[in-house]
Amino acid sequence: MHIKDKLAEAERTRKPVFSFEFFPPKTALGVQNLYDRMDRMHDLGPAFIDVTWGAGGSRSDLTCEMVNTAQTIYGLETCMHLTCTDMEKQKVDDALKSAYSAGCSNILALRGDPPRENEKWQAVEGGFRYARDLVEYIKARYGNHFDIGVAGYPEGCDDQQDQEILMEHLKEKVDAGGTFIVTQMFYDVDIFLSWVKKVRACGITVPIVPGIMPIQTHAAFLRRAIWSKCHIPQKWADALEPIKNDDAQVREVGKGLVTEMCRRIIDAGILQLHFYTMNLAQATRMILEELDLVPKDGTPNNRSLPWRQSLGLN
Ligand code: FAD
Repeated sequence: MHIKDKLAEAERTRKPVFSFEFFPPKTALGVQNLYDRMDRMHDLGPAFIDVTWGAGGSRSDLTCEMVNTAQTIYGLETCMHLTCTDMEKQKVDDALKSAYSAGCSNILALRGDPPRENEKWQAVEGGFRYARDLVEYIKARYGNHFDIGVAGYPEGCDDQQDQEILMEHLKEKVDAGGTFIVTQMFYDVDIFLSWVKKVRACGITVPIVPGIMPIQTHAAFLRRAIWSKCHIPQKWADALEPIKNDDAQVREVGKGLVTEMCRRIIDAGILQLHFYTMNLAQATRMILEELDLVPKDGTPNNRSLPWRQSLGLN
């Protein structure tokens, strides 16, 4: 099912939905652990999950494999990230074919981070320059088979801080066929909400899915703020700094702060939350429980998994 239809359903019923992002782990054991976690997190009832595309296509085979496993074995509605970094057309074609064969019908089309060894992003010969080009290409090759999401930046992106320019480029991506926007993480909900107003003022009407980063440790909280150049509200800094060496307390206080932020987003009428799980379940689960968005009686979220069927468990 297309993500845009799931988001439209949330709008229609006024019931908030949420989704989880995962990335390909580095080891075989990490992959198996992640599959177990994905299976357990399925019981929380995400509208969809997505799997990132490694910078420069690194671990891209694993992205395709994870998309296939999540979609066909675990029965999760899956969105595959796809980037232009170091991707000639043939590689893009192979990735799209793999997603198509897996029954995946959602792609998040991105320009991509530069590969680790390069500071600046460079287009590869015979490839694509901007996410917009990738959106156009997917539309031309696959028509409406794939629902295509694009990235949005409430606080600027790596190589562009000017919001007016970024807004023009966001509009181009949507006009090319993007049907939903997933945002970069942020900690300051006021910045996000005022950015949403600007997006709407610019005539962009597709759903905006805010990227939520749960807080696991104080070091990771700071590192992610620096990496994504996002503003830390003073209230958050004051609450977390005195307890920074106690991970359990940081998670507990962080849960409260992120939950409050999610409530404000939902109260503002934005009914979808996208969690950057960092392949971990606990912090995301704690927030969803606080928001009262997970099934209470412990029953799986009315799922009928192919692998359960094969074991006669459904
Ligand atoms: P674009 O929209 O193409 O923009 C890239 C730059 O080009 C911007 O500076 C923009 O202003 C400029 N630009 C765009 N169009 C034009 C134009 N017509 N003329 C001139 N300049 C233009 N990275 C990965 O490698 N793998 C992932 O899986 C991944 N997942 C992500 C998920 C989300 C939700 C987000 C927010 C980011 C993700 N990223 C990922 C990071 C992303 O690839 C980088 O931030 C990248 O630098 C920008 O990607 P984009 O798709 O927004 O690019």
